[in-house]
Amino acid sequence: MADQFDAKHLWHPYTSMLNPLPTFKVKKAYGATIELEDGTTLIDGMSSWWCTIHGYNHPELNQAVKDQLEQMSHIMFGGFTHDPAIELGKLLLKITPPQLDKIFYADSGSVAVEVALKMAVQYWTSQGQTQKTNFVSTRSGYHGDTWNAMSVCDPVTGMHQVFGSCLPIRHFVPAPCATFSPDELNPLKALFAEHHQSIAGFIIEPIVQGAGGMRFYDPEYLRQVKALCEQYNILLIFDEIATGFGRTGKLFAWEHAQVQPDIMCMGKALTGGYMTMSATLTTQHIAETISKGEAGVFMHGPTFMANPLACAVALKSTQLLLAQDWQKNIERISTTLKQHLQPLAVLDTVQDVRVLGAIGVVELKKNVDMATLQQVFVKRGIWVRPFGKLVYVMPPYIIADEELNYLLTQLVEVIQDA
Ligand SMILES: *Cc1c(COP(=O)(O)O)cnc(C)c1O
Repeated sequence: MADQFDAKHLWHPYTSMLNPLPTFKVKKAYGATIELEDGTTLIDGMSSWWCTIHGYNHPELNQAVKDQLEQMSHIMFGGFTHDPAIELGKLLLKITPPQLDKIFYADSGSVAVEVALKMAVQYWTSQGQTQKTNFVSTRSGYHGDTWNAMSVCDPVTGMHQVFGSCLPIRHFVPAPCATFSPDELNPLKALFAEHHQSIAGFIIEPIVQGAGGMRFYDPEYLRQVKALCEQYNILLIFDEIATGFGRTGKLFAWEHAQVQPDIMCMGKALTGGYMTMSATLTTQHIAETISKGEAGVFMHGPTFMANPLACAVALKSTQLLLAQDWQKNIERISTTLKQHLQPLAVLDTVQDVRVLGAIGVVELKKNVDMATLQQVFVKRGIWVRPFGKLVYVMPPYIIADEELNYLLTQLVEVIQDA
């Protein structure tokens, strides 16, 4: 199954080159089905890491790419603009927090986070507050793999052990809890009180902490944090890269708390999983303040900024989502996830079962052996990629009831057998 050239020469995410985890060669994918080279078909439980909300090989998304390809696949964004960027921008402003007004298109989620952090620093330094350059984040967060994004990821499960000595040192507070209690804010209050003069921003994934532990937390936490950020002059940055575009049952997760951030990042499902693209949005006030500063401009400009192919497919993907009763569909998936997964909670091997929107998580008591478990899942015709103690699914929204039932029946049997 594994390809020899691949195993010998190609890095995969977080994989040893000495003893690589097995990889499966994919021939094609359509709807919620992934077809391997040997003809095996798998029902997709991962949406290629939150991305392919409309499934694979979607005719309308394919058409949007083809149409744009006939016009131009790329043009520099310095000095040029184009309809895909403009139309996408108009639509994004309609569906994001009302106070957000300016959009920076970037290439990937991690870069969107870098851009957000740079915006926050430039906002303060533009006003002569050159000491306000550090950041606060919570434990169990994940914000990407580039340098500054790494620095605000969970310091234990993230990459601080490997890169710690050369990463900027950030402040961390405990991860927010499933049920809010006022006491949990004490560390943050103490930190802000002592260090607010050197803190530019607070960055957090709203409601769902993804790759840092698949944790869900109480919206009240965000309301309290917002008040503290205002009190201490600290910008609030929401990383909606995983939570955006309906996954949690709201179009974006800030809506659960009705708290508007000063800066917001999106990525992953933005293009329906067709290609890499992200966006960082901010307020008119922040954009103008940055532009009034010494540099006079925001200091970032990726080569592939606002790539027309990516913008065109992002526009179509978002239109497609909004044109359907997506809330009802997420509810359908959510209900089925609960029906199948919640009974697992009684097992001795299971620590916790949680479902929010179209995300289902089974947290085990022990770490799984990913290589073995992955093979078992593939043998049973499903694609689920666990990590650590977490076996979780976030299927494409177009998954049919019978596909979803199959996926979950197989998954549940594997966990029961383990
Ligand atoms: C995936 C993810 C990122 C990083 O995005 P990339 O496109 O992988 O760089 C950042 N933040 C969150 C919350 C994510 O889930």
